[in-house]
Amino acid sequence: MTYIEPAPIKDKENPLESMMQRFDKAVELLGISDEMYYILKVPARQVTVGLPITMDDGSIKVFEGYRVIHSNILGPSKGGIRFDPAVNIDEVRALAAWMTWKCAVVDIPYGGAKGGIACNPREMSAGEMERLMRAYTVSMLDVFGPDRDIPAPDMGTGPREMAWLMDEYSKAKGMTVNAVVTGKPLVLGGSLGRTEATGRGVMVSALAGMDKLKINPYKSSAAVQGFGNVGSHAANLLHERGVMVKAISDISGAYYNQNGIDIEGAIKFRDLNKGTLENFPGAERISHEELLTLDVDVLVPAAKEDVINNENAPYIQAKLIVEGANGPTSASADDIINDKGILVVPDILANAGGVTVSYFEWVQNRMGYKWNLDRINRRSDRIMKDAFDKVFLTSQQYKVPMRIAAYIVAIKKVADTYKFRGGY
Ligand code: NAD
Repeated sequence: MTYIEPAPIKDKENPLESMMQRFDKAVELLGISDEMYYILKVPARQVTVGLPITMDDGSIKVFEGYRVIHSNILGPSKGGIRFDPAVNIDEVRALAAWMTWKCAVVDIPYGGAKGGIACNPREMSAGEMERLMRAYTVSMLDVFGPDRDIPAPDMGTGPREMAWLMDEYSKAKGMTVNAVVTGKPLVLGGSLGRTEATGRGVMVSALAGMDKLKINPYKSSAAVQGFGNVGSHAANLLHERGVMVKAISDISGAYYNQNGIDIEGAIKFRDLNKGTLENFPGAERISHEELLTLDVDVLVPAAKEDVINNENAPYIQAKLIVEGANGPTSASADDIINDKGILVVPDILANAGGVTVSYFEWVQNRMGYKWNLDRINRRSDRIMKDAFDKVFLTSQQYKVPMRIAAYIVAIKKVADTYKFRGGY
């Protein structure tokens, strides 16, 4: 009897492949040559390292680490470091490209990069994590640098890991170099406003979108999926600007109140309830799917990728979708949403507030000066609003949805810069 290999379980849509589909569409509309297409697509540099780490029990374990610089045409590359068991070079490569387009769309002088180590932070002690981060930093001494490549936190890493990175890099250089990394603790030169920056950018994008659709924020309603860093700050800031947030959700479930959720109360509840909304009072429980299809003006997916797909897209009632998460809408849902006339502020624009304030952190470190929160908020709001206006205008000029327009803006900027700088 012949052995028949079982068919693989059909994968969910891959958000990074979805990104490439939209990238290809934008490239076609711009009439980019084949040569330029490959310049834009192929990463500038890819580094893989083996990191032998002494574990707490005395054994030695070798971890694989990566850093991919997708582009440094616009300036030093910028991108987070991910600690996760599923990290691999293909994922890092795709995420690095995503960073190039995100930085270009908000017009900050950075290229795109990403790093990662295949490891499980949940199973490692603080000491093991520290040794791993320091070893990774030493192996990347010729990659990182305030004028070359500037890492930041991503999944599984935070201010603590960035502090170790800054310290190890500084020791090697014989001086304190805090501009080598962003997302640091405040005392090490981290920036005010960074924690809420992505949610704040989502709020600015939502108000700009409402303005185009002639929706009065004080008479509007919203549903926010995900109540972590991005979702809870976005909900709170929208609420402060008069928007009635009727539904919120997290991994524990979705919560609805037709008279509006008390967002401040929900944040306090979550913080005292081990970080979850489980048993949140003052709202009725609805399903995750119901939240996405509620009759509200604005829908903010701020949890994870691929939540809006061709199955639920026909039932979405919101007039405006502002993508707080990366890749929350699968490519197969794009046409359905566009046909329904829903305005979508795409992820590479809507959630770029975080990288914008990271850029401010780097600027402040290089100036040796600290801006107050008011200055940071005003400047990041202006960058987000200018980027929104540029993408909106481009969408009208090319008669395409804002998602494709965002890629057009970003790709055109990188391609034009390359043309001026020239190659070999
Ligand atoms: P987080 O871990 O702080 O929060 C994620 C939230 O989503 C949590 O409340 C979690 O319970 C909830 N969640 C998870 N699965 C869910 C589900 N199936 N249904 C409903 N809720 C669910 O993460 P975050 O930093 O807020 O990031 C959220 C998204 O935004 C991610 O896609 C991330 O890549 C993207 N993003 C974050 C930043 C940033 O600065 N934090 C910047 C750009 C993009």
